[in-house]
Amino acid sequence: MATSLFISDLHLDPGRPDGIQLFNNFIRNKAVEADRLFILGDLFEYWLGDDACEHSGYQAIEESLATLKNHNTRVYFMHGNRDFLVGEDFAASINGELLPDPTLFKLGDLDVLLMHGDSLCTDDVAHQQFRAVSRSDEWKNTILSKTILEREELARQLRMNSQKGNAEKIESIMDVNQASVEKEMLTHKTRLLIHGHTHRTAIHEFQLGGKTANRIVLGDWYQKGNYLMHNHNKFKLLSYPDEKVLATLNTP
Ligand code: MN
Repeated sequence: MATSLFISDLHLDPGRPDGIQLFNNFIRNKAVEADRLFILGDLFEYWLGDDACEHSGYQAIEESLATLKNHNTRVYFMHGNRDFLVGEDFAASINGELLPDPTLFKLGDLDVLLMHGDSLCTDDVAHQQFRAVSRSDEWKNTILSKTILEREELARQLRMNSQKGNAEKIESIMDVNQASVEKEMLTHKTRLLIHGHTHRTAIHEFQLGGKTANRIVLGDWYQKGNYLMHNHNKFKLLSYPDEKVLATLNTP
C-alpha cells in the first residue's frame, strides 16, 4: 500500500538555519521512503517569485526536494498565504506538481479534500479581502514585474502589517470557521479534510449530513517538526524527529 506524507507551515527562512536543517533531514530520512509528499502551503516564510529563489537563500531547499525524484517520491505543492507566488518554474525544478487550493485527491479508495486552510478562516475578514486581491493574476503579474529588491521591501511591509493585524485579532478569528469547513466538504462530497495554516495540530471529529466526518490539522515546525502519514488504512500525526504519535485515525 502506498505511503503518503503531508506537511505544511514549515515557514522555512534562511534566518533560521536549524529549521532548514530539520527539513532537509526529514526529506533525507522520511520523504525518500514515501510514495507521495504533499506540501500543503507555507513551506516558505515568504516567496518573492521563482526568479528570486537563490537571492532569498532557498536554493538548498529546492535541491533537497529535487532529490526525491531519484527515490520515486512524487511531490505535490499547494500554495499557502506566505508562498502563493511559487510558480511553474519552481515546480519544474523540484519535479513537483502544483495543486490548486482546494484539491480533492484520491488516496486509494479514499476521497480527501486538501487545503492550505486560510480560506476557511472566514471570520478574518481583513485576510479574506487581501486574499481575494492578491490571488488575482493581475496582482501577481504587477508584483512579479517589479525588481527582486522592490518585492523584498513589499514582502517586508506585508509581514509587518500582518503581524500587527494578527496581534489585534482574538484567537477564535484566527481559527477556521466550522460552517465554512462543512460547506466546503459538502461541496466536494467528502468527509475527510486535511489542512494546515492554523498551526493547531489535531484530528477533529464531527457529524456531517448524519455521518462522521474528520478534519485533520497539520502543525507548524517552529518548535519541532511534525507530519501526517497515511498507509495501511490509517492516518498518523507524528512529531519529528522524535516520532511521537500525536493522533491516529483509521480509514475504511
Ligand atoms: Mn498559512
